[in-house]
Amino acid sequence: MAESMRGLHRSHRCTEVSSANIGETVTVMGWVQKRRNLGSLIFIDLRDRSGILQLVFNEETVGKAGYEKAESLRSEYVIAVTGKVEKRSAAVNENLKTGDIEVIAEDIRILSESETPPFQIQENNQTKHEIRLKYRYLDLRRPDIQKNLMLRSKVAYLMRDFMMKEGFLEIETPMLCKSTPEGARDYLVPSRIHAGHFYALPQSPQLYKQLLMCSGYDRYFQIARCFRDEDLRADRQPEFTQADMELSFVDVDDVLEVNERLLKYVFKEAIGVDIQLPLPRMPWQEAMDRYGSDKPDTRFGMELHDVSDIVKGCGFSVFTGAIENGGSVRGINAEGQATMPRKKIDKLVEFAKGYGAKGLAYLAVNEDGTYKSSFAKFMTEEELAALVAAMGGKPGDLLFFAADKNKIVWNVLGALRLELAKDLDLLDENQYNFLWVTEFPLLEWSDEENRFMAMHHPFTMPMEEDWDQIDSNPGAVRAKAYDIVLNGTELGGGSVRIHQDDIQEKMFEVLGFTKERAHEQFGFLLDAFKYGVPPHAGLAYGLDRMVMHMVHADSIRDVIAFPKVKDASCLMTQAPGTVDEKQLEELFIKTTEVE
Ligand code: ASP
Repeated sequence: MAESMRGLHRSHRCTEVSSANIGETVTVMGWVQKRRNLGSLIFIDLRDRSGILQLVFNEETVGKAGYEKAESLRSEYVIAVTGKVEKRSAAVNENLKTGDIEVIAEDIRILSESETPPFQIQENNQTKHEIRLKYRYLDLRRPDIQKNLMLRSKVAYLMRDFMMKEGFLEIETPMLCKSTPEGARDYLVPSRIHAGHFYALPQSPQLYKQLLMCSGYDRYFQIARCFRDEDLRADRQPEFTQADMELSFVDVDDVLEVNERLLKYVFKEAIGVDIQLPLPRMPWQEAMDRYGSDKPDTRFGMELHDVSDIVKGCGFSVFTGAIENGGSVRGINAEGQATMPRKKIDKLVEFAKGYGAKGLAYLAVNEDGTYKSSFAKFMTEEELAALVAAMGGKPGDLLFFAADKNKIVWNVLGALRLELAKDLDLLDENQYNFLWVTEFPLLEWSDEENRFMAMHHPFTMPMEEDWDQIDSNPGAVRAKAYDIVLNGTELGGGSVRIHQDDIQEKMFEVLGFTKERAHEQFGFLLDAFKYGVPPHAGLAYGLDRMVMHMVHADSIRDVIAFPKVKDASCLMTQAPGTVDEKQLEELFIKTTEVE
C-alpha cells in the first residue's frame, strides 16, 4: 500500500549525501534501482536524478516491520528512507559518487509500488527506440537521458544569464501567427471565429523580432519553440527550440563578436570546453571549393581539388562532358588508402550515387608507381601524372573524382569526405572546431519553382559591393548572412536585415513577388519600416542541436524530453489523432481523407 509523505521532508538528493555527512541522519527519497539480500542484510541502490546511493537494512536498526518492507521492495518502487550516514563497511565502489558511504536505514516508507517495467532503467539501454518512446516517462528515468536534460536546462540558463548581462531583453512572441508561404511548410491552426481562416505556428520569430527592433527594444532574445512541417531526418523534429536574438544598430562584425563570447561562455560553463577567440571565418565560396559543404567539418583535411583545367582535354568523356556542360571535375585524396579493397570502393561508388552522382571515378597510386583506376585507360601517362600531382597524390594514395554540375560535385565529394573520415576514424569527438561561414549567396535558383529563392530569407541584406549586379547577375550577389558551424553541423545562422524600402522592394521583385503579394504577406513589416527603422541584424541557434553536440548524442531525440518520431507522430500520446465531428464542425472543417 502506498504511504503518504506526512511529516517527512527530503533532506538530500542521493548524491548530495557524502562522507562529510558521516554520523548525520538524512532522509532520502527515490526509486529502487536494485535490491540484494545478503544474509540478514538487505542492500538497496536508491536512484534519483542525481545518481545512486546505497541503503542498508538490518532488523536491529530498522525494526521488524521496516525490514519486511525492505524485503518486499522491487525495481522502481518509490521509497523514503531515514537513516544514519556511515563509511562503507564493504569495499569502496569507485564508480559511484557515493561509493565510500552508505545509509543505515532507521525508517522506511513505501510511497508507491511499481509493476515490472517493460525495460530496465539503465544507461545505454539497447531496447528498441519505439518501445522506449512509447514508455517515454520510463525512458526519461535513464541516467544518461536525465544528464542530457539537466545539461540542456543549464545551457538555457547560461544563455539567459549571458544575454541579460549583455543588455538583451527576453520577449515572447506569438505562437498563433500569419502563414507566410516563403520558407518551409507551415503547421496550420484553424480559426473557430473566422470561418475558413487559419493561423500558422511560427517557423521562427523572424518578423516579430524585426518589428521589436522597429519598436526600439534594440536587443531582444528568446528561447523560442518553432515549427516546420518538413520531412524528418535524423537530426530534425517538427517542433524544435531556437535560441533567437536580434540587435539594432549593428553590422556583421558586431553580431559575430557578441555571439563568439556567448559561445565561449556557454561551452566553458556547460561542458568545460575552452574556445579560442576570435573564431575562424570562411566565405561560403571557399567552404564549397575546399570542403564541398557550407558547413565544413574542419577537424580533418582531405580537401577538394578542382582538376577541371587538367582534364579538360583528356580522352575520358565523363570528365570532358561535365566540363562542357558548365560543370567541373574535382577530387579528394584518401591518403594511404591505395590498397582499399575493390568491394569497399564499390560501396563508396554506391554511396556517391545516393548523393546524385552518376558515378565516382577513382585512381589508386600503387606503391610501385603504377595505377589501379576506373578511367586510366582513357588518359595518357602525362595526363595521369599531372592529375596525380594536382591532387598532391603520392604512392599509396587513393584518389576519388566526381564530374558533374558544381552543385552535385560539391554535394558528392562533401559527403564522401565525411564518410571516409568516419570510416578512417579521423574525427576526434573531443575536438571542437567552430567556424563562421560568411558571405552566403543571397539567392538560390530553384528548378522546381523556376525562380530565384532567398537562400536565407527575403529580409537578408545583400553585400553593398555586389548590389550593382542584382539585375545583371542576381545569382552572384552575396549576402550579409552567416552560419556558425561546429564540427560539420550548423549550430545557428542569421543575417543583417534589409532596412531600406528600395532594396526590399527590389528583393521582392527578384523573388517574383508582385507588389500586391508582398504587401498582402508582409505589409505589416513594410509599413512598420516606414516609421523609422534602425539597421538591425540577428541570429538563431538550434538549441536541441547544440545540446546534442555537447553530450555527443546520436539522435536529437536524446536531448528532447518528448520527441516525435520520423513520421511526426508521438508514440506515447498517439498524437496526431482524430477529433470529434463536432470539433471539426465548429472549425468549419471537412476532411477529404479516405480510409
Ligand atoms: N530566423 C532565422 C532562422 O530561423 C534566423 C535568423 O535569421 O535570425 O533561420
